[in-house]
Amino acid sequence: MLTFLELTMMLLGIVHFGLPLFYYVYIRTKLNRPWNLNIDRDYRPRISLIVPTFNEGDFIEAKLSDIVKQDYPEDRIEIIVVDSASSDGTIDLAEAWNARHLNYNIKLLTEPDRRGKARALNLALRHAEGEIVVVTDADAFLRQHSLKEAAALFSDSTVGAVTGIILAERRKNRDNENAEIYESIYRFHHNIIRIAESKIHSTPIFNGQLMFFRKDYLLQLGGFSLDVGADDSYTATLVALAGYRAIAVPEAVVYEPMPRSMRSYMSMKARRALHLVQTFRKILNRLPRAPSRFKPVLAVEAFLHLINPWLLLASGSIFLLSFIVDGPTFLKLVVAVMIVGMMLVKRAREFLFTWVANQLILAYSILRSFRSHELCWKKIEK
Ligand code: GDP
Ligand code: MN
Repeated sequence: MLTFLELTMMLLGIVHFGLPLFYYVYIRTKLNRPWNLNIDRDYRPRISLIVPTFNEGDFIEAKLSDIVKQDYPEDRIEIIVVDSASSDGTIDLAEAWNARHLNYNIKLLTEPDRRGKARALNLALRHAEGEIVVVTDADAFLRQHSLKEAAALFSDSTVGAVTGIILAERRKNRDNENAEIYESIYRFHHNIIRIAESKIHSTPIFNGQLMFFRKDYLLQLGGFSLDVGADDSYTATLVALAGYRAIAVPEAVVYEPMPRSMRSYMSMKARRALHLVQTFRKILNRLPRAPSRFKPVLAVEAFLHLINPWLLLASGSIFLLSFIVDGPTFLKLVVAVMIVGMMLVKRAREFLFTWVANQLILAYSILRSFRSHELCWKKIEK
């Protein structure tokens, strides 16, 4: 017989693991669906590529060279670097690069002080002349064809925003090999879910490393919000709430170098989680009016980010409590054996660690989100 505590623990655990598992299995069936869009693959709109920088001296030249390696017609691209008072000469390096590549249309903007990525993006937006605005981080590198493949999707006027998928860049002989493993596991599943959600209608989670917006729609929203850190997911969700598609596509791929240490990896994850939590908290009241096909996706994601982490913590705490109150019963033995079993198998252990770490980070971020917004953040060493 199960005790009351054990029953509660089981129920919470089943919902915590069962709901995302069910959602994952369900959503995977949508992954290979057609886009349901009228796409002209030869469409090449004029694009304004915005690269926001704060102390990106290590990356800015490689970043600009990476952009011009894309096979997009030169005369349809404008590059806008917007720097917020970097102290490492980022803008001088960009200028020097520009002097060596005069055939590109490039604008260099500087802000006198740093007040966050969103505000810098809005400044760049005022100078953008393209129909499509692309935001791409200085420390993110694009796979060939990403620009043209993503831009072509805007030939369908229902597409409001597009994001690329991210691959964690793996380097050999690094001291943070574990972080690379965890990030790869996370990205693998994350990417599948983003694309599958996009096939249904839209995904509320965008990758700031590479995102495309139809400029008109972005301007209708008043640009990027200055009171949320997630310039990516929050903006994309607003686009989707307005009825346009906000989609993640496998044709656009970004490589992202990993932070140098486990510690900086964790602090990057914590900030990104905080920004996501802010997004879901802020749009919750608009959920009832979401487009019908987007609504279930948004509701599930809001649940997974705001509530589900607590179920794991509650279930785990009750497990310990029940151990004290009821002693080591059969059920607890089974649970313990399952956990130990997973720890012994490398892949299972890595997955379990990734999962639990993400849940703990989310729970911590939910608490933090009541006080902190983190619109300006510490640069992570890469
Ligand atoms: P992470 O990838 O989540 O760790 O975030 P990053 O620190 O790499 O920031 C993403 C991009 O925004 C990078 O290109 C940064 O240089 C840039 N960035 C971050 N904060 C600011 C800011 O205050 N102003 C400007 N202009 N760019 C910023
Ligand atoms: Mn980055």
